[in-house]
Amino acid sequence: MADGKLVDDDTVNGIVLARLQDETMDVLFDGYPRTLQQAETLGTFLSSRGIGLGLVVNIEVPEATLEARVVDRMVCSNKHCGFIYNLKTAPPHVEGVCDLCNSSLKQRSDDTSEAFKGRMVEFNATYLPLRAYYEGMPNYRNVDGDREPDDIHDALVQLFEEQV
Ligand SMILES: [Zn+2]
Repeated sequence: MADGKLVDDDTVNGIVLARLQDETMDVLFDGYPRTLQQAETLGTFLSSRGIGLGLVVNIEVPEATLEARVVDRMVCSNKHCGFIYNLKTAPPHVEGVCDLCNSSLKQRSDDTSEAFKGRMVEFNATYLPLRAYYEGMPNYRNVDGDREPDDIHDALVQLFEEQV
């Protein structure tokens, strides 16, 4: 974890299943399962108890939108502040200067188009099989994540209300 890598599947599954063991309430996961192996383990666990997944929601954002968020991102160089700006959607009042502490803004060394594309290849290798696993299920829903947070929130609320 210290080097920023994700925890391995067995560790994550162990933590989640131990927590679910005596759970009697409905559960909402955010960011789990993250791999096909995690999805299969969760599926096996639930079906062994006769429990079904209520809803699987995928908030999907086009790669071009994700890339713009990364490439246009600037961060405050003051490590006690670290405020994050976006040159297009949330720029500072004065170019290159943090609104909060007047320190200079910088781009992270890995926030380049090239580095982003490399990370997407890595991400898709895990994400695409996971999506394919759930996509065929009747309770799978895709939500357009390429819009304002309030609109995404409303779409999610509507999905959950349909479930009740
Ligand atoms: Zn700052």
